[in-house]
Amino acid sequence: MIKKGIRRQIVLHYFLVVFMALLLVEVIFLLAIRTYYYDSVHSHIARHIDFADEYYQKFRLNEDDTAKLNEIISYFELDLTELQLLNTSGKVLMTTSDFGSDLTIKTSDVTQALAGDISRWVGKQQGTGQMVMAVSYALQNGGENEYILRYVTSLDKINNKLLHLTMWALLIGVSVLATVLAFSIGLANSIVKPLNNIRAVSAQMAKGRFNVRIKGDYKYELGELASTLNYMAQEIVRSNQVKDDFISSISHELRTPLTSIKGWSETLNSGGYDPDETRIGMQIITKETDRLIGLVEEILDFSKLQQNEMKMVMGIVGLRELLQEIMLNLWAKAEKKGIEIKLESEIKPVIYADANRLKQVFLNLVDNAIKFSHENGKILLSMEQDEKFVTVSVRDFGIGISEEHIQRVKDRFFQVNHVNGGTGLGLAITQQLVELHHGALEMTSELGQGTTVKVKLPLPEGKIPVAGGSDSEGGVSSISPEHGIQG
Ligand code: ADP
Repeated sequence: MIKKGIRRQIVLHYFLVVFMALLLVEVIFLLAIRTYYYDSVHSHIARHIDFADEYYQKFRLNEDDTAKLNEIISYFELDLTELQLLNTSGKVLMTTSDFGSDLTIKTSDVTQALAGDISRWVGKQQGTGQMVMAVSYALQNGGENEYILRYVTSLDKINNKLLHLTMWALLIGVSVLATVLAFSIGLANSIVKPLNNIRAVSAQMAKGRFNVRIKGDYKYELGELASTLNYMAQEIVRSNQVKDDFISSISHELRTPLTSIKGWSETLNSGGYDPDETRIGMQIITKETDRLIGLVEEILDFSKLQQNEMKMVMGIVGLRELLQEIMLNLWAKAEKKGIEIKLESEIKPVIYADANRLKQVFLNLVDNAIKFSHENGKILLSMEQDEKFVTVSVRDFGIGISEEHIQRVKDRFFQVNHVNGGTGLGLAITQQLVELHHGALEMTSELGQGTTVKVKLPLPEGKIPVAGGSDSEGGVSSISPEHGIQG
């Protein structure tokens, strides 16, 4: 007995469907054959009766009763049948087999014959108990029923043949069923075995063993299931690795400022330093604390974005003003490396956005540009506008990113080089913030040549009030160590 499960379901399903179909076909086939045989016997006798009746009506036979009966019997008898001659009350007057005279026959064929039909009856013969077919017809004289011709033939031969055929049909049926059974067990095994294997491997994965893989070349949906599970395990391993890297880099990021804060606070605590030294110490403590706050905020932002809990405060934002503000914010940092930041466009696009979040986006992009630019480099900010979108580009001429890494820089926790500091979350957060504004972030870069990041944002439909008042015609703004802001 097959135990409960898909295998049993499949086998049972196939078996039942084929069994029902076979049963139906065989029953119809045997009934058709039986009807065909019985009909041919009946029509053979009926044809003979037609001739007999024609003959009887044309040539009136002897008027003497006994002689007439003898003539009827001898003229009208038919091979392989017994001819009974009955009177209209069904009494057997004469027969070709000597058996059954004196009997009165009341079967349906006799009563129907009296109504003028050639009718048949199939059943067990009175006296012998043999299966027979009886075909009867009433001979008429002057419109009155005179005698009944009743031909009785044994059905033993036909029934034997039918039994033979039934046995063959059963044999064929059983062998077809056996074949179907073997086939369906094979089919069920081809599904259940891989499934069991996949189940066993996924149970191991559920216990945390993500290095196991589903082996075997499975086809169709099972193949897809196996490769999806393998891919899932591989991705879990990868993201675990990324997480481990993150933890190690974040620990490092936290430890450096903390060590510095601890060192300076211990030094200051011990006292005896001149005011200048104390001021430097306090400045370092403040700077490192800011760095720590920035780090923690970045992690908090990322976790909010992951859980879809980032709340957007939408309003009208002038992009030109926003970029100028960012240039001011990062001026000191750029100045340290002698980097010049230029805003090249004259347009003043106004969009519907969360000003703080958008600021965060461009702060991160320009901050990266500064971080990865060479000393005395240049960063170009520009804007382009069409009917539906405004695209802001941040271009630097710094170290660039290789083709291999550019695919992954937007992944969370990814950093080309951990030595540069940071969490690897900046671009992942930026990308999600841009997407929250229904925009898109695109990065192109060439190693050693520099990087361009394009942020495409939708313009609001219809007219909206212009932010920031009616400034001059725009033009090129720039911040540089020598010049400050020009706009
Ligand atoms: P992080 O906060 O560590 O800078 P990001 O997600 O902002 O993380 O950046 C991921 C990585 O992408 C960086 O570590 C750096 O290797 C690379 N990257 C980002 N921007 C630039 C750029 N302008 N030039 C070169 N490399 C960049």
